[in-house]
Amino acid sequence: MSGAVSVVRYERRGPVAVVTMNRPEYRNAQNSAMTYALDEAFYRAAADDEVKVIVLAGEGRHFSAGHDIGTPERDAHLSFDRRASLWWDHVGREGAESRFARESEVYLGMCRRWREIPKPMIAMVQGACIAGGLMLAWVCDLIVASEDAFFSDPVVRMGIPGVEYFAHPWAMPPRIAKEFLFTGDRMPARRAYEVGMVNRVVPREELEAQVLALAERVAAMPRMGLALAKKAVNQAEDLQGMHAGMDSVFGLHHLAHAHNAETSADSLAGMDPRSMKAAADGS
Ligand code: ZN
Repeated sequence: MSGAVSVVRYERRGPVAVVTMNRPEYRNAQNSAMTYALDEAFYRAAADDEVKVIVLAGEGRHFSAGHDIGTPERDAHLSFDRRASLWWDHVGREGAESRFARESEVYLGMCRRWREIPKPMIAMVQGACIAGGLMLAWVCDLIVASEDAFFSDPVVRMGIPGVEYFAHPWAMPPRIAKEFLFTGDRMPARRAYEVGMVNRVVPREELEAQVLALAERVAAMPRMGLALAKKAVNQAEDLQGMHAGMDSVFGLHHLAHAHNAETSADSLAGMDPRSMKAAADGS
């Protein structure tokens, strides 16, 4: 297996493929290597006739702290074989062109591609599920969280109106989405359950067993029925404007990146994980 695959583990347990993000030392921050390894794992699970349901998990104490904006293996400057879009490589391009090409591929494009996998996906969420971590949980059809899980999208602190896959007003009621964005506060698992963003909240020690039991129940349904039921609900979300809404917000998102690049240190307003944490603690 290539080095790129080691950041994601793949295992099959009967009819369930368990795909596990495996950078626990960085709270499963997603670099491009992880994104493409996830894509490879999902493709494998989608193609495997024995697999009926896919579980997405994170190794360690946290599901995912978001996109990699500060680990030693941050690889936003590298080229990868693109899969989700026909945008040209971002490497060697400047300004908004580079950012738009890259994020169309690795963020919005990949998330949309994964949302359309014709097999049910269950996110198994513990600990932190922040910003880019939300995107991964939201592309899954069901979300099961442990009691210690929390969700947040603090990127408004960077002057950016939410992460690239802007599912916020579909994942939760619009007024709650505004509060979620305006404050950047952590939404505890129980609150996420109350607003309908997660399906179940379970004790941490029961998380894996409960997710696998749910996956087994779903797996008992016929494959075609599951694929069509998933597509039916996804289509309903898109008829409620989700697809077009995301496209329009993606433009605002890139306006924010460009504004930051023009008026501050960089497209993230000079923020890194440390300054984001300090800003959160000081508020
Ligand atoms: Zn972005």
